[in-house]
Amino acid sequence: MAPALQPVRGTRDLIGEDAARYAHVVATARRVSALYGFAEWQTPIFEDTRVFSRTLGETSDVVTKEMYTFEDRGGDSVTLRPEGTAGVCRALITNGLTQTLPQKVFYAGPMFRYERPQKGRYRQFHQIGIELLGPSVPLADAEVIAAGWQILNELGIAQDVVLNINTLGDAESRANYRAALVEYFTRHEASLSADSKMRLDKNPLRILDSKDEGDQALVVDAPVIYAHLTESAAAFYNELKAALTAFGVLFTENPRIVRGLDYYNHTAFEFVTTALGAQGTVLAGGRYDGLVEQMGGPNVAGIGWGAGIERLSMLIAAPGQASVPVAVIPMNDSFSGPALDVLKSLREAGVSAETAYSGNAKKRLERANKSGAKFAVLVGEDIKLKNLADGAQQDVALADLPGLLLQ
Ligand code: ATP
Ligand code: MG
Repeated sequence: MAPALQPVRGTRDLIGEDAARYAHVVATARRVSALYGFAEWQTPIFEDTRVFSRTLGETSDVVTKEMYTFEDRGGDSVTLRPEGTAGVCRALITNGLTQTLPQKVFYAGPMFRYERPQKGRYRQFHQIGIELLGPSVPLADAEVIAAGWQILNELGIAQDVVLNINTLGDAESRANYRAALVEYFTRHEASLSADSKMRLDKNPLRILDSKDEGDQALVVDAPVIYAHLTESAAAFYNELKAALTAFGVLFTENPRIVRGLDYYNHTAFEFVTTALGAQGTVLAGGRYDGLVEQMGGPNVAGIGWGAGIERLSMLIAAPGQASVPVAVIPMNDSFSGPALDVLKSLREAGVSAETAYSGNAKKRLERANKSGAKFAVLVGEDIKLKNLADGAQQDVALADLPGLLLQ
């Protein structure tokens, strides 16, 4: 026998309860997003590499280490999407939607990053996310965050997470802050990791997001942005906090949140949990007002978040079992045809029904009991509905069956 083929490292199958958890997270997020007026988009799983390399920032971990990039047979460089925002902004532009704003987008699907696999960290993982494109007002940020909060709440995990918010200010605030950071980290340059030495030139804010322990020790005493905010950036941040409070969303201010990608300004936020070890961020995002323009579109503001479905799935309670199909059983081979008629009419009436594909009636009934089905329909000269819990059975007319089973 040939050796059994294995899944690619960092990928996994969703089967049984894992599949049910995945479906429950997506269905909940889809339903709640619609309550806020977000509509679902599907963008391709792979894009021109530049969609990501130009936007996520040349010093981000995703671009420097994690992208699945390859040349296709035509010699074009394509990349499996590592996140959802860049593709949505590309789609906004190429579909001419920058003229019809706001656009409120929900998405769900696979993302790909070449990372060291561990609990809650995979090479193919899945995200839900929303993007609100157009308005650059704090109310938009608050709504996007409130939608995320309501999704976590309806998944039953709001009590396990804390919302951290921060502001990255506008361009002027960031320039001021950048200077303060460069001054501070240059004094400590010898203790910085190699990656962060590079960031010091290119994007010193990124050092605040470093996972290196030595860097993190320096970050503790690094200057915070609040003293460097312009008046209007400070006002934006204050209005956001007031709107969150109005929506009843509790938050903690955390000046260390800068997010890993380059395109954020003003609002940055993360919902974090201590329940998943090092993989504590479950939902994260921010405002990215320059991104669409950077991709060659007009100046369109945006705010959004992405959340890892695997991490959410680990936090939620097991979803309730879907009901087991009714078992339709011919009493002997001569009733196979009538049994198919019963199956067909039950399914058309919206009743979930199946038949064991072989075996005598007794065997099939045993299997139905094992499957956890609540009812069997025995098809012989008459049609009988059998309650598998107590064994009671009654003669029924085919036309009455769906009514009895849908109760
Ligand atoms: P981390 O700090 O854990 O690496 P990140 O900052 O890279 O996260 P984002 O790019 O903001 O994460 O992605 C949003 C969410 O997607 C994360 O909060 C997390 O829930 C999920 N996520 C990111 N990378 C992975 C992965 N490799 N496997 C599973 N989920 C992931
Ligand atoms: Mg990461």
